[in-house]
Amino acid sequence: MTYVIAQPCVDVMDLACVAECPVDCIVAGGRTLYIDPVACVDCHACEPVCPVEAIFYEADVPAEYAHWTAVNAEFFPGGGGPALTGGDHPVVAALPPQSAHKKEISLFGIGKEDPAIVDVWFPAP
Ligand code: SF4
Ligand code: SF4
Repeated sequence: MTYVIAQPCVDVMDLACVAECPVDCIVAGGRTLYIDPVACVDCHACEPVCPVEAIFYEADVPAEYAHWTAVNAEFFPGGGGPALTGGDHPVVAALPPQSAHKKEISLFGIGKEDPAIVDVWFPAP
């Protein structure tokens, strides 16, 4: 298992999770961060500090974000996908700008239990 960064991180990237990771397996792309599933040790340190509730344990990723497990894994050369350096996974690159809405949502503290509300602002690709 691993932890997964999902769509709410896109265009936020405040890097709070990076400071918490003991094995430095959270890597920045151009518009979001990605967790290396091979290196992640499932310590849970990153998940509570995310201001937009973007981080999920793999087994708890909501259905609407299910494809983000592969998005994270495929960002890394060892994940079976292309080696991406300085850019983003194609799923992320295809998303429209989302930063303004994300900041509004983080202020209201919408949590993981409210994915339907979040989807109004961040429809799945
Ligand atoms: S669960 Fe721990 S090891 Fe995995 S990405 Fe988060 S902080 Fe890093
Ligand atoms: S803490 Fe959350 S929003 Fe900030 S970089 Fe990590 S996943 Fe993205």
